[in-house]
Amino acid sequence: MNIDRNDAPALTSFIRNIIDEDNRAGKWSQRVETRFPPEPNGYLHIGHAKSICLNFGIARDYGGVCHLRLDDTNPEKESVEYVESIIDGVKWLGFDWTKDGREYLFYASDYYDKLYEFAELLIERGQAYVDSQTADEMRLTRGSAQEAGKKSPFRDRSPEANLDLFRRMKAGEFKEGEHVLRAKIDMASPNFNLRDPVIYRIRFAHHYRTGDTWCVYPMYDYSHCISDALENITHSLATLEFEDHRPLYDWFLNQLTEDGKFTRPLPRQIEFSRLNLTYTITSKRKLLQLVNENHVEGWDDPRMPTIVGVRRRGFTPESIRLMCDRVAVTKVDSWIDMSVLEGALRDDLDEKAPRAIAVLDPLKLIVDNYPEGTSETCSAPVHPHYPERGAREFPFSRELWIEREDFQEVPKKGYFRLFPGNKVRLKYGFVVECTGADKDEQGNVTAVHCNYFLDSRSGTEGANAYKVKGTIHWVSAKGAYEAEVRLYERLFKEPQPGAGGVEFLNDLNLASKRVVRAYLEPAARAALREDRIQFERHGYFVADRIDSQPGEPVFNRIVSLRDNWGKRH
Ligand code: ATP
Ligand code: MG
Repeated sequence: MNIDRNDAPALTSFIRNIIDEDNRAGKWSQRVETRFPPEPNGYLHIGHAKSICLNFGIARDYGGVCHLRLDDTNPEKESVEYVESIIDGVKWLGFDWTKDGREYLFYASDYYDKLYEFAELLIERGQAYVDSQTADEMRLTRGSAQEAGKKSPFRDRSPEANLDLFRRMKAGEFKEGEHVLRAKIDMASPNFNLRDPVIYRIRFAHHYRTGDTWCVYPMYDYSHCISDALENITHSLATLEFEDHRPLYDWFLNQLTEDGKFTRPLPRQIEFSRLNLTYTITSKRKLLQLVNENHVEGWDDPRMPTIVGVRRRGFTPESIRLMCDRVAVTKVDSWIDMSVLEGALRDDLDEKAPRAIAVLDPLKLIVDNYPEGTSETCSAPVHPHYPERGAREFPFSRELWIEREDFQEVPKKGYFRLFPGNKVRLKYGFVVECTGADKDEQGNVTAVHCNYFLDSRSGTEGANAYKVKGTIHWVSAKGAYEAEVRLYERLFKEPQPGAGGVEFLNDLNLASKRVVRAYLEPAARAALREDRIQFERHGYFVADRIDSQPGEPVFNRIVSLRDNWGKRH
C-alpha cells in the first residue's frame, strides 16, 4: 500500500482553515511560523509526536518554519539529558527547524532577561503586584465557581513598593514562598486563570542552563505567550486544556503591545485535542513512575510509548507520521486505538521489509528418507511482490525446525498441517508426509518424523502434481541462526489504564514481554541494528538497536501480521 500523505490537510482542516483565512486577509503577509515547545522534564512520547507532526507539518506545507523551543522555566525538573533526547527525537521523526540556513532552535530560558524586564514594566503600569500572602492564603481566597475571589490585602501596594520588593526577590533577599508576583486582573472573573495569576515565584534552584543566576522564575502562562511573540510565531497550537488560558495569553500580549513592546498582529493560540492511545499512557509523571519503579527496563524499553521506546521497538518514523496523519486533529479529546499505530507500521513495512523465515517455538522434524550428512539449497524471494529484489538461499537437510503448533498427533477438525498420515508442503521446499512422532516419558512430543517426495520440490514441474491443504515454514537445523527474540504484548491489559479511578499500575499486563530462543534462516544473521524484517507468518521484527552485535542480532517483534497465516494457507 502506498503511504498517502494527502489526507493530512483534510484532517487538520480547522487549523488550516484559520491559516488560509489569515492568508486571504493578508494578516501575516503569508508568513506561517509555528513552534513545538516541549518542557525538557522528560522524554517525548507518542502524544508529542502528534503535536510535532502537526506543527512541523503545517510549517512545511505552508512554506514556513516550525521552531523547536525548549520551554525550560521549571529549574528543578529539567536537564540536558532531556534536551538532547528531545532534539534527537524530533530529528528522528524526520523534521528540522532550519530555514534558509537559519536554525530556529530556542530556549525559553534565553528570554529570562526580557521576561524580567517586562514584569517590571507591568509593575510600573500598575498591572502586577507583589503578594506576600502564603500559598494557603492565596488558595483560600481564590473563590469558587459561584463566588468571586477575595482581593489580596497587598493588592494595592504602590508601583514603587512593588518594584522594590520584586527587585529584592530577584536579589535573593527572601525565602521561597515569601512573596510572589501576580498580575492584577480580576478577582471576580468567571475564568479562574484571570483571578490575579502568579507570574513569578522564588526558587533557589540550579537551572541546567542559567545556573544560579536567577532565583525568581516565570510561570508558564506568562513566559509562553511572550516567548511566542518574541519569536514572531503566527499560530501557536496548544492542547485543549489551554483553552481557558487563552484570555490570559492575550491579556499579557495586549498589555505589552500597548506599551510598545510588541506590534500587531499578535500570535494567536489555537487549541486542538490531545492524542491518547489505548493500552498505554502518555502522562510524563506516570511514565516516570514506570521507569523509577522498574515496571519497565528504562525510557527506551520497547514497550514504552516514548519516542525512544517506539523507536527501539522498531516503529519507523514514517509509520508514526502516517498514524498522526490518520488521526483527525479536532476539538474533542479522544482515544485512538493502538491498532491505528500498528496498522500504520504494517502499511509502511509491507513494501519495504525483506522476508525471512523464523521458527519461534521450535520442534524437530526429521525427514527419514533424506540422506544423512547432505543438504541442498532452496530459495525464496526477498519480497514476494518485487522479484527484482532477488532471492535468498537457505539449506534443506534431514533435520529441520518447525513450529510446535504445526504438528498435532490427533488433529482437530479442520487442521491441515502435520499429523500422522497427512501431507503438507514445506514452503519453498518439498512436500512431506508425516509418519509419526517421538515422545518423552511425560508424553511430550520431542520430534516429528516424515518422508519427503523427491519430485515435489517447489518451483519444479513435479511440484504441481501434489495437492496439499497445508503449507508450513521450516528452517534447516544445520546452518540455522539461533537467536534471542523478544515478543512484546501491550503494556497494559486495559484500553484506558487507570480509568474509573483504579490505580493505573493495577492494569499493567505482567506478561508483556516474552523472550524465546528461535531458529532463523542463516541470512538473518547479517541483519544490522535497526534493520527491519518480516518473519513470514509471525510479523515485523527489528534487530534491536542496543543489544544486537555484528553477526549476532537480537530481534524485537514490532507487530504481528494482521492476517492469521494459519487460516490463509
Ligand atoms: P507536562 O505535564 O510536563 O506539561 P506535557 O504533556 O504538556 O507535559 P510538554 O513538554 O509541555 O508536555 O508538551 C510539549 C507540547 O506537546 C505541548 O504543546 C503539548 O501541548 C503537546 N502535547 C503533549 N502531550 C500531548 C498529547 N498527548 N497529544 C498532543 N499533544 C501533546
Ligand atoms: Mg506542558
